[in-house]
Amino acid sequence: MKTKKMLRYFSILLLGLLTKPSFSFSTHTAVPIDTLDKAKIDSSLFNIKYPELALDYAMKSNRLNPYGFEVSLLVDSICLTLTDTVHCSFHMPNLGRVNSTFGWRGRRVHSGIDLQLHWGDTVNAAFDGVVRVSKYGRGYGNYIIIRHENGLETLYAHLQKRFVVKNDTVHAGTLIGLGGSTGRSTGAHLHFETRFLGRPIDPELFIDFQQNRLKQQSLFIHAETFDVPRSKRSKRMF
Ligand SMILES: [Zn+2]
Repeated sequence: MKTKKMLRYFSILLLGLLTKPSFSFSTHTAVPIDTLDKAKIDSSLFNIKYPELALDYAMKSNRLNPYGFEVSLLVDSICLTLTDTVHCSFHMPNLGRVNSTFGWRGRRVHSGIDLQLHWGDTVNAAFDGVVRVSKYGRGYGNYIIIRHENGLETLYAHLQKRFVVKNDTVHAGTLIGLGGSTGRSTGAHLHFETRFLGRPIDPELFIDFQQNRLKQQSLFIHAETFDVPRSKRSKRMF
């Protein structure tokens, strides 16, 4: 009987210790965004709630995808202006033929398009923007990521040489590097990607690589734009 009482006493004591008291804060003082620990912000709300902060954070990052963007949260479409006659123009990154398309390649998605070139061929920025990443990576070799004003990013990989550094401002057509075969690559080519908030989208959706021009002046992006169905296979063109 005594033991039972003791056990009950201890279990009540333990319950009291484990149960957290609930507090409610009724302050209306806003926390300045600068003082928030950026790394701890809920990543799924990151870009939607704090777009300027996301840009600032992304520009400081060297990661391929620093945005933590949750595609399922994109309920509306976003319209990106790709080009107009006054503010933004377009230039082909390289005039080489497409030798491999965007899509599934075995168990992985080939997240860009491959353009055939020779070592030392020029590679140009596709749109105006700011260099967010310029470095060497094991897979991409020498690569550059440019962030454009509409939020789109373009990536240029396997370069022999890079002529721009982080935070450089570039324009459509600026010479940014020379083509090569650095990193995980079996022959000289330009691996070219287009990404929005860190997620790859097929560049052929809006760039015509046969006619060397944009297919349209603006691009509607919605959740399905990022889908890569199993039927979409990366094709080797020759
Ligand atoms: Zn590739």
